[in-house]
Amino acid sequence: MKVGILGATGLVGQRFIQLLDGHPWFKIAVVAASEKSAGKIYGEAAHWMLSPEPPKAVADLEVMPVNVKALEDVDFVFSALPSDIAGKVEEHFAKAGHIVVSDTSAHRIDPDVPVLIPEVNPEHLSLIEKQRKNRNWKGAIVANPNCTTNVLDISLKPIFDKFGVRSVVVSTMQALSGAGFPGVASMQITENVIPYIEKEEEKIQVESFKILGTPTEPAKFKLSASCNRVSTLDGHLEAVFVDTLKNANPEDIAEAMESFIGLPQKLKLPTAPKKPIILRKEVDRPQPRLDRDAGRGMSVVVGRIRKDPVFNGVKYMVLGHNTIRGAAGNAILSAELLKAKKIM
Ligand code: NAP
Repeated sequence: MKVGILGATGLVGQRFIQLLDGHPWFKIAVVAASEKSAGKIYGEAAHWMLSPEPPKAVADLEVMPVNVKALEDVDFVFSALPSDIAGKVEEHFAKAGHIVVSDTSAHRIDPDVPVLIPEVNPEHLSLIEKQRKNRNWKGAIVANPNCTTNVLDISLKPIFDKFGVRSVVVSTMQALSGAGFPGVASMQITENVIPYIEKEEEKIQVESFKILGTPTEPAKFKLSASCNRVSTLDGHLEAVFVDTLKNANPEDIAEAMESFIGLPQKLKLPTAPKKPIILRKEVDRPQPRLDRDAGRGMSVVVGRIRKDPVFNGVKYMVLGHNTIRGAAGNAILSAELLKAKKIM
């Protein structure tokens, strides 16, 4: 299938290009970005931040402006635009008949838009039919969660299914690449932690209730998040405290996480990691530098599962790669699921 990438020059756009190189089903046909980049060759327009260099076939493409006409020949699009401009743009594409798999927050709260983690809530794809009916369009928007939500909710899913969850407290240590390029000023973040990320705490709550609920009913539990920007490059680390409905000791939780697989694993989708959750037994893992690339960046890594003396439950650390599992990789896996289920 021919793929277009909106916001192709940004940090998430670059991950799409890296991860789609040699993909068995999808081939990048069009890269699009702002007026500043449009008309230039991709290799010159993008401030490339990954290693190795972009594939030559993409580096030589002309960057197109973000409009339906410039992308009329593609089969579907990934959106990695800034959220404040993505809303209308994604609607135009869906109206023109495209499936838009979006990493932006623009439509995540719309009741008829699935916020998809393919291992966690594939049944939410049923919302697409409703969306098409409601909006009278042939295309569709499928949203990906916020990067921090994604990592947290994968780790919560097996607990939710086996023991039920009354409440969750999470405190995050989020990497610099989560803020896009150029991101946080070096004078602010060097030798520092910034205890605030705009709208992040609200996003984690609203999205988690939606993702862990049914397609039409949000899950009923309490969630409190506290988000921090730290000076790691990639990989969001989260300290999680869970109050379970049924009694569960750390061994039960570890066993539930260890044995967890989802539909992408059963369908053997190309981007599915063998294990969505990898457990580490060492007392000082997971760590961003050592663990963010686990499962080619598509697994989350959990460690330090232990009894919580305050809650009737456990506490643990979870880490996930924010631009792979938390963004481009999850979107590619979502697109693979849409294709496997013949939705596109
Ligand atoms: P970024 O590095 O700032 O990239 C933004 C991209 O959008 C660039 O390609 C830029 O093109 C393009 N763009 C900016 N203004 C535009 C306009 N007016 N019209 C058309 N294109 C425009 O941001 P990012 O980190 O890649 O994030 C992209 C999206 O993914 C955001 O919505 C973000 O919230 C979401 N997200 C990010 C992460 C993460 O870890 N970074 C994780 C999950 C979700 P130019 O280069 O031409 O300016």
